[in-house]
Amino acid sequence: MAKLGLRYKVGVHVDSCLGGFVVPFMEEAGFEMDPFDFRVEGVTSISADTHKYGFAPKGTSVIMYSSKSIRRMQYFVASDWTGGVYATPSIVGSRAGSLIAATWATLLYMGRNGYMESTKKIVTTNRKIAAELSRVHVYVLGSPKVNVVGVASKEFDILFRVYEKLIERGWHINGLQFPSSIHLCVTMLHTKDGVVDKSVRDVSKVVAQVASDPKAACGGVGAMYGVSQTIPDRSVINEIAEGFIDILYKC
Ligand SMILES: *Cc1c(COP(=O)(O)O)cnc(C)c1O
Repeated sequence: MAKLGLRYKVGVHVDSCLGGFVVPFMEEAGFEMDPFDFRVEGVTSISADTHKYGFAPKGTSVIMYSSKSIRRMQYFVASDWTGGVYATPSIVGSRAGSLIAATWATLLYMGRNGYMESTKKIVTTNRKIAAELSRVHVYVLGSPKVNVVGVASKEFDILFRVYEKLIERGWHINGLQFPSSIHLCVTMLHTKDGVVDKSVRDVSKVVAQVASDPKAACGGVGAMYGVSQTIPDRSVINEIAEGFIDILYKC
């Protein structure tokens, strides 16, 4: 992609929001990793969410540019405003200093070594989950290298059938569509003793139950998501989602 960007003179952004505090520590943690950052000619910007694997409070993130001239594009300046010359580094105006202070403190507390250690634990756990799950009637999407694992099934609809049963058992899992699948972002909580074994055991139980009757109908949230995926006109879905938010405001 970076080569294409160079050839057509288009900036290439690396969305490293989720991996921004894991991927850079892969090599130090002892895992192989292809270059993904400014070492790759053509990459012009990278984002990294401090509020995810940086373990800092929500509402903070980092964006980096390969040159000062690109950084300038994010500035907002209104020089004719009656209140004087208004200039901010980004389109967002007033920001909470407390969030920035807490994020800085978190970075210092964790340190390079802290992030390297969390990367080691998270990646090891993720690969263990991927290996265990590929044995139970589901298949792992792609080859999970870092901190996310997704699974789907060719025998039954994993999202409609398995997702809901896992939620009933107290697991919070993210559903994905196109294709129907479920995924998990592995965090430090999953690296604690026994968590992987317990979750894989629960997934195996649920999957075995569903696989015994792969064509059974499903209800509840699963049915809703199922129907939503089959409607080709996506604007209908957008409208329903907007109606849902309207209801939240009404209360
Ligand atoms: C989290 C995330 C974002 C940004 O989401 P915010 O809620 O604004 O922090 C963007 N891209 C990816 C891949 C992400 O994981």
